[in-house]
Amino acid sequence: MNIILLGPPGAGKGTQAGFLVEERGMVQLSTGDMLREAKASGSEMGKRVAAIMDAGELVTDEIVIGLIREKLQGTKSAGFIFDGFPRTLKQADALGELLDEMGQSLDAVIELRVNDEALVGRIVGRAEAAVAAGDKPRADDNAESLKKRLMEYYKQTSPLIGYYYAKGMYSRVDGMASMDEVKAALAAKLDG
Ligand code: AMP
Repeated sequence: MNIILLGPPGAGKGTQAGFLVEERGMVQLSTGDMLREAKASGSEMGKRVAAIMDAGELVTDEIVIGLIREKLQGTKSAGFIFDGFPRTLKQADALGELLDEMGQSLDAVIELRVNDEALVGRIVGRAEAAVAAGDKPRADDNAESLKKRLMEYYKQTSPLIGYYYAKGMYSRVDGMASMDEVKAALAAKLDG
């Protein structure tokens, strides 16, 4: 079973994907994680994307599609969770083609629905928690960058809701509920 978790930054996609990995042995493919790895490794591509990511803008479709292609082709799995990908219609088309080539398909696209004010609180909380734990917060977890990331979400990513709705794949859960409730709601969708 291959699924997309859709939702703005801070909606809880990464957290819920983590539960699905632990409990169902699915494989999480997060382009944000892949890009942060590239950035940390200091590769040419990492250097190219660093400033874009810190500013909260979207990296080019070519780069992220390339990353996903590589991972998909190199990984055997009973189920992929796409987290933070696709973020544009072009990426959504590319994902459809890639899965087709592999003889696979997408089973569900689930939006974690949240409200914007709560998101700001969650992201600030994530930065504070990182500091409290002695870690460096994500470079893009600040008010300025968050505003940009939210704008990018609404401009470029939210059209995917209509795109997948038209394909009969879209559904949503209340992302404002507690972590356990969201987890249960997701499980109900996947098993239902
Ligand atoms: P995330 O961890 O998903 O919030 O991603 C962090 C940052 O990586 C985003 O703000 C973008 O700059 C970049 N990024 C991650 N995934 C994508 C994607 N699918 N398309 C374009 N940029 C992405």
